[in-house]
Amino acid sequence: MDKGIRYYSTNRNLDAAGGVIPFRESVTFREALLRGQAPDEGLFMPDRIPRLTVDDIMALRGRPYADAAMKVAGLFLAGEVKEDVLSRIVAESYPFEVPLEHVVERLYIMRLDRGPTASFKDFAARMMARLMSHFRPEGRRLNVLVATSGDTGSAVGEAFRGVAGIDVYILYPRDEVSGQQKKQLDTIGGNVSAVSIDGKFDDCQNLVKNAFSDASLAYLNFTSANSINFGRILPQTVYYIYAYAQLAGQREEIVVSVPSGNFGNALGCEYARRMGLPVKKLVMPTNENEEFPRFLRTGRYEKISPSRACLSNAMNVGHPSNLARFFELYGGTVDRTGKVHRNPDVEAMKRNIWSVAVSDEMTKQCIRDAHERYGIILEPHGAVGWRGLELYLEESKERPLCVSLETAHPAKFPEEIIELLGIVPEVPASMRDLDTRTGEAVQLPARYDTFKEYLKDTLKTLDS
Ligand SMILES: *Cc1c(COP(=O)(O)O)cnc(C)c1O
Repeated sequence: MDKGIRYYSTNRNLDAAGGVIPFRESVTFREALLRGQAPDEGLFMPDRIPRLTVDDIMALRGRPYADAAMKVAGLFLAGEVKEDVLSRIVAESYPFEVPLEHVVERLYIMRLDRGPTASFKDFAARMMARLMSHFRPEGRRLNVLVATSGDTGSAVGEAFRGVAGIDVYILYPRDEVSGQQKKQLDTIGGNVSAVSIDGKFDDCQNLVKNAFSDASLAYLNFTSANSINFGRILPQTVYYIYAYAQLAGQREEIVVSVPSGNFGNALGCEYARRMGLPVKKLVMPTNENEEFPRFLRTGRYEKISPSRACLSNAMNVGHPSNLARFFELYGGTVDRTGKVHRNPDVEAMKRNIWSVAVSDEMTKQCIRDAHERYGIILEPHGAVGWRGLELYLEESKERPLCVSLETAHPAKFPEEIIELLGIVPEVPASMRDLDTRTGEAVQLPARYDTFKEYLKDTLKTLDS
């Protein structure tokens, strides 16, 4: 029988003198999913990438999104998840549309904003939640702890809502989230609880970290749903393949532009290319946190600390967590702190990847231009992607098939859209019911002893 894909750590070759002991074993997908991170704080990587032919991909033309998800996930999870189970998981994960909007010539925008929190993060979080539920130890409940400064928490919370056998506790800093974000987090309900902490985001993160490493709480079956979990990368390979299948002509190559922060989304495209998708270039525009475009230009990596606050706030990242996976795929090693242990093959990277920093000024100008020229509405993240694509096309002087990702719904940024375009963006159904929802967060001080008591009193370990 074919041996399943195994997952190894990006830190396995580090020097043990650094403090942590490098993890030199490999684990199954199930273990990588439930652990989230390797024991040496490295990121899990598949030891083999399954292949798709262009004919396999083209067979998805005209088919629903769930079919593409089934095809891709089925290859990665062969031998680990039964086909009928996987088919139910993808059907439950993707009950919404994935619009491909034609802009001009061979240029398209893929709108990944039709999920329950109007963010592309819904795609990955929903599938990961259902895979975790499937893989949990029989009869045991899993307890997901998440610290959030806003958006990620609601995507994760919504993704797990109603998912069997899992309870979610979202910690957020009381005075650092917007009124709308608070409402979104507090009112998910059911198996998802909001915990409002009297402190800062760092306090929330520390409380979660302390709980994870507290041996006396190990019986509570904690798991994390953070963005470095490979279970969140896998679903992000799908939409590139889906888009190509719907749009490409005979043996055509595609240019994809992915507005990037922690690089998880763009990594999905890198894997899709390695699976066999004919990607001519992966364009990875960033905002003013330009550590990556600068690295491609100079070959020297230097993180930006503290990160710069830009309009596209979900991309304010001075050292992308998934950079370690990009380095690994190109033969290099970088650790969590941003220290480079081995440089990757930068020339090979540059053949596949193009990157550029898009300033806030350019982002605003792009939102105006795109509306004026093409009648499309972009929010700041999608505008970084679109402007980055335009800059790439200017430099390369090509006119290939291009897809630029819109990663959030414009209605999430009403002030910017009203200021720049003088119109009020239409609110999608998923955001419309917010006013009528009810629910209150539990309020706790930023103290571990109090948090620990709360966990011991509240969390369940067995299915009732
Ligand atoms: C998270 C996020 C991004 C960045 O995605 P990465 O995978 O972190 O690169 C871009 N746009 C929006 C709206 C996001 O929420």
